[in-house]
Parts: sequence; C-alpha cells; structure tokens
Amino acid sequence: MITPHLLPQIITAIVVVMENNAEEVTQLDQVIGDGDHVTNLQRGLQALVLQQDELSLLDWPKAWQKIGMTLMSSVGGASGSLYATLFMALSKASTEKAISLPSFATAFAEAIEAVKKRGKSEAGEKTLLDVYIPVANYLLSVAPTKPVFNVVLTEVSDVAIKGMESTRTMLATKGRASFLEARSLGHIDAGAKTAQLMICTIADVLSKSLATPA
Ligand code: ADP
Ligand code: MG
Repeated sequence: MITPHLLPQIITAIVVVMENNAEEVTQLDQVIGDGDHVTNLQRGLQALVLQQDELSLLDWPKAWQKIGMTLMSSVGGASGSLYATLFMALSKASTEKAISLPSFATAFAEAIEAVKKRGKSEAGEKTLLDVYIPVANYLLSVAPTKPVFNVVLTEVSDVAIKGMESTRTMLATKGRASFLEARSLGHIDAGAKTAQLMICTIADVLSKSLATPA
C-alpha cells in the first residue's frame, strides 16, 4: 500500500538526484533563466528533510498540505509558489488516506489545473507544466483500465522524459525565459528537467517498494 510512510525514502532519493544533477540543471537555468532553480528546490527539500519523520505519520491529505505550506515558505522563485499550489491543491482534492491509482489520477489532474491557473500558463509554454500535464493526462487515461500503480510506473517515467525533451523546441512564453523570445529555442527548460527527475525518482522508489511489500 502506498502510504506516507514512504515519504522519507522519496524525499531522500530526490535530495540525492538533485545533488547529482545540480550542475546540469543550473546550466540549463543559466542559459534561459537566472540559474537559481536547483538551489531554490534544494532549499525546499532541506526543509522537508527536517519534517520527514513527522510527515510519514500523517495521512495523505494532511501530508500534502504540510508539504505545500513548507514549500511555500522555503522555496522562493516562480517554482516555489507553483509547487506549493500543486501540493495544497492535491490535499484539497484528496479524500483517501491510502492512495489508489484512480483517486490519485483525479486529484493530481485537479492539482495540475490549479498550477495552470496560478502560473496563468498552458501546455506548450516551455515550463514544468510540459512534464506535469502529459503525466496527469496519462494517469487519467490509464486509471480505468490499469488501476494499480506498479503497471504504469515505467510508462509514467517515459511520459515525463518525453515531456522534458519536448521543451527543447518550444518558445518560452512564461517565466524569465520568455524575455529571451526566440533565443529560448533549442534549450531544455530547467523546471521541466527537475520535474522529470522528480517523477522518475518517485516512480523508481514506488516500483521498488511495491515489488517488496512490507
Ligand atoms: P525563477 O524563474 O523565479 O527564478 P525558478 O528558477 O525556481 O524561479 O523556476 C523557474 C522554472 O519555473 C522555469 O524553468 C519554469 O519551468 C517554471 N515557471 C516559471 N514561470 C512559470 C509559469 N508562469 N507557469 C509555469 N511554470 C513556470
Ligand atoms: Mg530561476
């Protein structure tokens, strides 16, 4: 069962993957942004590390809420308010204490809608949404026919990687990268890269834990 007891493992794995990719993400954000994206996220992750034991004892709606509030006060930058919105909306849309794929898919899609509103952005604008929107759509599309998580985790990672790659040829129309206009073409968006890294890491931790049930 997927419960918040997995959060410490997930948070630790994301800390490691961000550390390993920090240089690459910083370079991406230096080309079309201001270079602080990974350090913004790392500040949030450090705040979550301090809370991870407490988080692991909550139910999902309360855990999402606490994560959202913590990210709101620690991350900063455009990505800070977007991630805070994502988790707070996920909390509002989640009613179940343990996650099933159909209920998570619906709640996640609602959370992504909230992020779109918050950022006043849509798919195709060269942002982290170009990873999250396809992932949300994919989860919604498979939930009725493949209602268990382990079946879809590999495909979720593939969808995230494809979304991240798709930002390379997009023209940025939101965030700092939009100031560059056509010069934003040919570069992957830093926020899309970290979104992909986080999704692949979560999928990886979940696959391992579902393969070896406690
Ligand atoms: P800042 O741009 O304020 O320095 P970050 O560097 O932490 O903040 O985050 C930049 C990332 O946030 C971008 O790479 C992009 O993916 C995402 N982003 C910025 N503005 C928006 C927006 N309006 N909608 C969706 N995502 C956005
Ligand atoms: Mg930045």
